[in-house]
Amino acid sequence: MKLTKPIIRLIETAITAQKGAYCPYSRYRVGAAVLTETGRIFSGGNVENASYGLSICAERVAIFNAVAHGHRALKAVCVVASSAKPCGACRQVMIEFSGKDTALYLVDLNPATGRRHVTKTTVFRMLPAAFDPIASGLLPPNPQNLLRTKQSHRRKTQRRKPASRRTES
Ligand code: ZN
Repeated sequence: MKLTKPIIRLIETAITAQKGAYCPYSRYRVGAAVLTETGRIFSGGNVENASYGLSICAERVAIFNAVAHGHRALKAVCVVASSAKPCGACRQVMIEFSGKDTALYLVDLNPATGRRHVTKTTVFRMLPAAFDPIASGLLPPNPQNLLRTKQSHRRKTQRRKPASRRTES
């Protein structure tokens, strides 16, 4: 498989994130990285907890990292593990920020030999009949427009603040 430079960088970032995983209980290291539509890369490793149920997968750490930095559209997702297969919960979270063509790279990395096997698929192919926020009526047909409206409204209100301060002084 021929990989572009951004995808090679995405995979390398996920491998670095795998090294940073906090998994003293399962000792199963997973790394993930996402490439946003704007070309930025965010990553994360799985983070476990003594109260097992509070643990979170690498995929969600990476995606929430991107979302926390204001990114809502993913171009590609990469998962690295000895057997890289995202769980059902993470697949649904990926769908929330993916388009029909959002690529998903599954990298099986053998920790003993360092050999890796890359499989390319798409987020949508990995979760057929996903819960759809648009079909359910929870989001309007084009949620990106809604987000843009919210952002421009926020910008307008921020712009208004200094003006009102000026009238007070
Ligand atoms: Zn998961």
